[in-house]
Amino acid sequence: MPERHADVLVVGGGAIGLAAAREVARRGRSVCVLERFALGHERGGSAGWERQWRIQYSQERWARLALETLPLWRQLEAEAERPLVHARGSLWFGQVGVATSEGELALAAAVLDALEVPYDWLTALEIERRFGFAALPRDHEGFHQADGGVIDVRATLEALAALGVRSGVRVVEHLAVHALEPDGAGVTVRTARGDSRAESVIVACGAFTDALLAPLGCGLGLRVFRMASAHFARRRPDVDLPTWYAFLESAETGANESLYGFGHDPWTGNDLVRVAPDAELPVEPGAEADTALSLRAAEQLDRTARWVRAHLPHLTPRPTHPGTCLAALPADPEREFYLGTLAGRIPHGERIVVQAAGWAFKFVPAFGRTCADLATGIDAPPDRLSTPW
Ligand SMILES: Cc1cc2nc3c(=O)[nH]c(=O)nc-3n(C[C@H](O)[C@H](O)[C@H](O)COP(=O)(O)OP(=O)(O)OC[C@H]3O[C@@H](n4cnc5c(N)ncnc54)[C@H](O)[C@@H]3O)c2cc1C
Repeated sequence: MPERHADVLVVGGGAIGLAAAREVARRGRSVCVLERFALGHERGGSAGWERQWRIQYSQERWARLALETLPLWRQLEAEAERPLVHARGSLWFGQVGVATSEGELALAAAVLDALEVPYDWLTALEIERRFGFAALPRDHEGFHQADGGVIDVRATLEALAALGVRSGVRVVEHLAVHALEPDGAGVTVRTARGDSRAESVIVACGAFTDALLAPLGCGLGLRVFRMASAHFARRRPDVDLPTWYAFLESAETGANESLYGFGHDPWTGNDLVRVAPDAELPVEPGAEADTALSLRAAEQLDRTARWVRAHLPHLTPRPTHPGTCLAALPADPEREFYLGTLAGRIPHGERIVVQAAGWAFKFVPAFGRTCADLATGIDAPPDRLSTPW
């Protein structure tokens, strides 16, 4: 039997893995993160500079979770002594009734009403006047929610890693986990540099999760894809944007043509803002970490630049710094995330906790805590994987 290296091993050093490891250490248990690349690499789901922070969801439970997560972010910020979630406002607008993986305008507004979260409902004209958009179709409408905003991704990763190490988290970089073998006493973790043992394992591999779980016969069947984005220079530094999402559908084909974007992030050290199509680019299995820009990505960015030219006159409509980022969503459109143990799916599955898929960055402190709870209380873990959590 291989040597036991930690009470809990965390596979994956992205935002979720780092948050989970830190929470395990705070519970007084030894914990080690195994990361196949280097921390802060750009080939996973936590790449880039920013993520949208928003309270609005089409389902009330996720809006509630966002409200519950905000104090955890504030606590993390206090411990890190730096801001991580910036309240710049969140603007959702476009065609009412168009549903995307983000949600739908009217449903999300109804949830805000139910939770008594304030927002302003705006016409196309008001959106133009308030935020500097131009020539929006007159049937566009939407809302601005002032508590939404932007998460500083790099600062979050740095804070989680630094605070984790301070709490006793060990991190091993450039070490891929090849297989997990749970048994009655723990889990054997197979890597290229030998085997390790732990009482339990947290799988925080993002879009790479199925590669690790499939040999156990319990792959999640994630929809893995890449998303393209580009940056645009500000012509007028005095005009800034909230984070925004435009629900757009092609009149001819009915295809989803939604876009999203950000305001200026001072922490990037440049005067660019990001605008991106909410569109999926195919990924060949095994080529998930390949970040090359495909022809289809270039076409999507051309369409994005045309939209910027037409509707964001205070930006230079020439895209710069094009790139793609790896994403994963549950294949089941009714599901937003996976978070739970493999109990009931494989023998001794209660020893393996999984968080994967979804727009999860905003929930990082909450999901990290739940992963740690499940991994350290393995006698009676609630199984949230098999329920519509
Ligand atoms: C373009 C884009 C936009 C997004 N926008 C938002 C948003 O606005 N709001 C929001 O809340 N969320 C958003 N998300 C989602 C959010 O970014 C992700 O949910 C989150 O970053 C995932 O973090 P993670 O730690 O689960 O995965 P990752 O960051 O991918 O980390 C997984 C880690 O596991 C490592 N790994 C994988 N397999 C192994 C192995 N076998 N052995 C060792 N290490 C392994 C990988 O190298 C990687 O570092 C967006 C995602 C994308 C791609």
